[in-house]
Amino acid sequence: MSKAGAPPPQYTFVPPPSAPPSYSEAVGGVKPTSPFTPIQPNPTHIVTTVVPIGRHATHMICPSCNAEVETSTRTEPGLIAYMSGFVIALLGCWLGCCLIPCCIDECMDVHHTCPNCKAYLGRYRR
Ligand SMILES: [Zn+2]
Repeated sequence: MSKAGAPPPQYTFVPPPSAPPSYSEAVGGVKPTSPFTPIQPNPTHIVTTVVPIGRHATHMICPSCNAEVETSTRTEPGLIAYMSGFVIALLGCWLGCCLIPCCIDECMDVHHTCPNCKAYLGRYRR
């Protein structure tokens, strides 16, 4: 006496209970007040480099000590040098290859400092 032949009970499709309408929907589009007001980004332009500087020592007025100085430059491998070195390393090159971009002058960043007060004046980026 198997009931295999019996048709399965016919279920009427009941949609899954949806989430109740939110408060804003229930009352007609009036959104509850947010506890905090969104802060608009203040378009304050921050000047980091006062004087346009190049890759060589620049004659300028130091904004820190107001002295007329010839900037002292320090050359360091920039991000491009590190990136290219990293890419070369990924490509399976030998270790020495990674150091080559650091030696390429084109990839160097030039950092300018004041020789008088040692203030950091800016960076020239390739
Ligand atoms: Zn200075």
